[in-house]
Amino acid sequence: MSDHWRLVYKGLDPTEEALREALCTLGNGYFATRGAAAESSADNIHYPGTYIAGGYDRLVSRVGDRDVVNEDLVNFPNWLPLSFRVDEDDWFGQLECEIEDFEQVLDLQDGTLTRSFTVEGTPYGAIRVVTERFVSMRDSHLAVLRWSLTPEAPLERLQFRSALDGDIENWGVARYRELRGDHLEITGISSPADDLLCLRSCTKQASLDVSICARHQLFHDGEQVTERGASYEGKNSIEWLSPRLSLAAGQTLRVEKVISLHTSRDPALGDLLQDGLDELERAPGYDALLARHQRSWAQLWDLFDVRVEVDPSIELSPHSIQLILRLHTFHLLQTSSPNSRSLDISVPARGWTGESYRGHIFWDEAYILPFYISRAPEMARSLLLYRYRRLDEARAAAAAEGYAGAMFPWQSGSSGREETQVIHLNPKSGKWDPDHSHLQRHVSAAIALDVWRYVQTTGDLAFLEDYGVEMLVEIARFWASVCQWSDASARFEIHGVMGPDEYHEAYPDASVGGLRNNTYSNVMAVWCVKRAQDALEALPRSAAERLRQRFRVTDEELALWSRVCEAMALPTMSNGLLEQFEGYEQLQELDWAAYREEYSNIGRMDRILKAEGDSPNRYKLSKQADLCMLFYFLQPEELTQIVEPLLGRELTPKEIRDTIRYYRDRTSHGSTMSHLVFGAILDPYEPEEAWEHFVQALRSDVDDVQGGTTPEGIHTAVMAGTVRHFIERVAGLSVRDGVLIIQPSLPTGIQSLSCRYRMLGTSVEVSIDSEEVTLRVPGGASSELQIEVNRERCTCAPGSSLRIDR
Ligand code: BGC
Repeated sequence: MSDHWRLVYKGLDPTEEALREALCTLGNGYFATRGAAAESSADNIHYPGTYIAGGYDRLVSRVGDRDVVNEDLVNFPNWLPLSFRVDEDDWFGQLECEIEDFEQVLDLQDGTLTRSFTVEGTPYGAIRVVTERFVSMRDSHLAVLRWSLTPEAPLERLQFRSALDGDIENWGVARYRELRGDHLEITGISSPADDLLCLRSCTKQASLDVSICARHQLFHDGEQVTERGASYEGKNSIEWLSPRLSLAAGQTLRVEKVISLHTSRDPALGDLLQDGLDELERAPGYDALLARHQRSWAQLWDLFDVRVEVDPSIELSPHSIQLILRLHTFHLLQTSSPNSRSLDISVPARGWTGESYRGHIFWDEAYILPFYISRAPEMARSLLLYRYRRLDEARAAAAAEGYAGAMFPWQSGSSGREETQVIHLNPKSGKWDPDHSHLQRHVSAAIALDVWRYVQTTGDLAFLEDYGVEMLVEIARFWASVCQWSDASARFEIHGVMGPDEYHEAYPDASVGGLRNNTYSNVMAVWCVKRAQDALEALPRSAAERLRQRFRVTDEELALWSRVCEAMALPTMSNGLLEQFEGYEQLQELDWAAYREEYSNIGRMDRILKAEGDSPNRYKLSKQADLCMLFYFLQPEELTQIVEPLLGRELTPKEIRDTIRYYRDRTSHGSTMSHLVFGAILDPYEPEEAWEHFVQALRSDVDDVQGGTTPEGIHTAVMAGTVRHFIERVAGLSVRDGVLIIQPSLPTGIQSLSCRYRMLGTSVEVSIDSEEVTLRVPGGASSELQIEVNRERCTCAPGSSLRIDR
């Protein structure tokens, strides 16, 4: 097996353990467990975490003289605990010993995590230990842990200890620790049969009932041991102790712990506990469960793997570009998989791998959904429905602010209400600062973007009719009502918002949050309005009429939408370039060189400035691409159709280049997405620098480039974005008006790429190298595929393939 499938760590490194735990999380789109050692518990090195997709709960904490409500992704009981001892010695984990030949392997192809090492320095000689686990992609309620011990010398009275531990709080993010994290009540502990443990818990506010059952089997040199273990109930946990067994030198004692996890929200639920026990009763042993888990992964890899050949001169070390792309794909599929289709979830910013951002869902979806749309559209559809189900909440949020339509929350969790914190702890200063980030109204535009891209790529007009039009109309309606006409500028203006650059929350010294005419938001508002118009036109006339009546889209409203498109404010600077927001030009320049010299990492310039008693609001600096995001998200003609009439002139390629450079020079890249975006938009002008940014994006998580954020959870947007980069920018695949557009642009050193791309119900195999593009259309496709390669049109019939010179 090639190393492009295996993330390998040699030796233990306590400083890196939390990072490895996040990166080695195993999940199946239903639940996930961090890659913490089974013998560990939460301390300053380890943080075991088990998260259920969409498993949120709210608590009220007292901060100073105020009550603060936070909804968290709950850390559920830990099913991992497993250890061993010899005779009455300490349990491994607390035992004084030396660990030699340690290796940890995350196998992406098989979805398994293996740790192997030798325990030495004890009175009873060396013991080789191999621990293996997986969270089944095939059996979504099951996970399995297996430990194998092989001593060098004969051993007496060897015993395993296993537990289900409900003594768990949310404690994974240091800066949240002043807030409450005690979400769980343990509601039942039992051992209904020999070698079986059950632990039932319930979340305090959301009443999510969760049962975990564990089955244990012992094998002595391959033979199942018939002697039984015993269970012991604690207050919030339950433990199993195996019988004590002897081993000859070189013999292996193996324990298999299979767990089932069920929640009161499961479809087809009977009795929560009994369902868990039944599932364990039916479950075969480790090897058979593994084989079907591997088959499910193989099917996913067949759809999602992006294979690249890379020239050694640009290869990354120690993890190759291919491995990183697979790691990113792996984590996205663990966050939302075919198992998630019956769940009411979307993809949170940090996956289900840690507690940062509390498992909330952000505009990051705009980076993430296309990852699914172009390979497994039914998965994307189910994620879009998460937003659709929260449309009423978004309508209520808009109405509460005096707006029409639907205003989606900046941070979304269980119900779709606004979950953004009102105050946020600055770890640099130790102070609680007000948090205005909910003013990022552009999140609604991200949702419209996903709806539109989904319909464009899949041609799913039924979705458009049943859900999409309603979402697009309500979002357009919201933007049209947020706009206010200004006689002074003779333009529609949008006030009181924040752009994607979160450093500017308000004008310098202003007492209220928000900015006027953030260009990104204004342009996206027009884009949303135009797509709502297009959506109505895309449907047959009778359906469109029916929907117009149902959603009361009047001629007057359509006329207002057109006026908004024709007269939206678009601030520019004295140099002629688009301005990030009105007044940006008047801000001070930051002394970048001085800050770079003083601080090793200036990514979070906001925290640095605030800790100095200053404010980022005063400077021309951005956390990430803001206005420049327009060049990233919108197709060039979509952008020019909006911007040129508003500017009354052409938006020239030179101007675009100068704009990107201008803001690039004033961006601190405090978000992992920033490097991704600059890596893409700088490419036509400065390919070498673009590649450097892209490499930073690739390394974001695997190397924890932000210095401490990945241990708190991986970054799904940058992960999806890097994979998409290869599909949409390197292979250059997109769909427009039912035609597959291919505009390859292989960066220097990327020799070839192949992937699957699904459009209009057909999954096409695409391979690209420096000489040619090869396409294969499967035999079952319903019609020939319309293709445009480098602006030349051609077709490819079902069951045939096509080679085109590049
Ligand atoms: C970024 C936001 C993003 C959020 C969640 C923040 O650091 O600035 O744009 O939505 O993280 O990923």
